[in-house]
Amino acid sequence: MTPNPPINLLPGPVPIHPTVREAFAAPPVSHRSETFQRDLRDLSRRLAQWVGAGEVALLLGSGTLANDAVAAQLSRRDDRGLILVNGEFGERLVDHGRRMGLDFSCLQKPWGETFEPADVETALDQGPEIGWLWAVHCETSTGVLHDVESLARVCRRRGIDLVLDCISSLGTVPLDLRGVHLATGSSGKGIASFPGLGLVFHHHGIEPSPSIPRYLDLGYLAAKGGLPFTTSTNLVYALRAALDRHQALGSWADGDGAPADGAAKVEGLMAFLRGELEGAGWRILAPTDVSSPAVVTLAPEPLSAPEMGEWLEARGLWLSYRSEYLVRRNLIQVCLMGEHHRGEIEALLARLEECRDVLGSPSA
Ligand SMILES: *Cc1c(COP(=O)(O)O)cnc(C)c1O
Repeated sequence: MTPNPPINLLPGPVPIHPTVREAFAAPPVSHRSETFQRDLRDLSRRLAQWVGAGEVALLLGSGTLANDAVAAQLSRRDDRGLILVNGEFGERLVDHGRRMGLDFSCLQKPWGETFEPADVETALDQGPEIGWLWAVHCETSTGVLHDVESLARVCRRRGIDLVLDCISSLGTVPLDLRGVHLATGSSGKGIASFPGLGLVFHHHGIEPSPSIPRYLDLGYLAAKGGLPFTTSTNLVYALRAALDRHQALGSWADGDGAPADGAAKVEGLMAFLRGELEGAGWRILAPTDVSSPAVVTLAPEPLSAPEMGEWLEARGLWLSYRSEYLVRRNLIQVCLMGEHHRGEIEALLARLEECRDVLGSPSA
């Protein structure tokens, strides 16, 4: 039986709750109205408090824009940085840094592995004085989740500013950004709203800088009360509704509070899914103890990941397999961002077995 609507197991767009769709569908209002300005201020305060940050900037764009805004801030400094790379999104940070002309070195690990504090210490000991460290919290391409606390400890001890890409971790795991210099998020992944707002969390006051392109200048944005240009009031109200929902459920990520609407906690669902996948002999890229509860990456060789993805998609199961970096490595991912149910996982597991029988048979 093909589920209708399809079961969305993508890292974005993610399943959107009807209350969030309703908030988005209301007619736009003037972004200059007092009501909207107050609502935006309230939402910003809630978002910042939620993760222990001082402030948050909302940019009209996807997560990549938020990372560009961070790179622009780093370009104002004259110290060197270190970027950690163990997957696609770490590689993208390097690209952000190069395009912005930053001075940095890289610490590399193979895809699916994580960094031990000792690896980071060694890299910091070698290079010239390093002032900032930029890393991806959840490396979405593999599912590896970095231990932010241990990174923060190393940085704090050495007086290094820690900068994090939390785009796929925000809303899927508890996040504590106290002591984190700059961190990015987005509306369209773990918070489970529509894509289109990029978030940059910070603590320090940011001054405008004439050398940064206007749209990327977080200081300019702050000086204009967070609203220098036209924004999508629809996206802002949808994000607010998603945050309401997230907080009313006691968060589907942080393990306390009762699931509502039959939605189950992401950790429990992921443990069930991983256990069943392993039992059925699927190869999982990253071990459980270093993985996000919201992403599992399969290396289905000798099956073709794109063929599997298409076969499952035709049967109403949306997995992530089309990104270039997944195709190149023959990987396919199941993501649990937003609200999910055990029945969805059971449907997936049944189809995966069928898929292996069909695509794996010599006559296929
Ligand atoms: C998705 C993602 C991005 C890019 O975000 P877009 O919204 O696609 O621009 C950056 N970093 C991580 C870790 C991501 O998961």
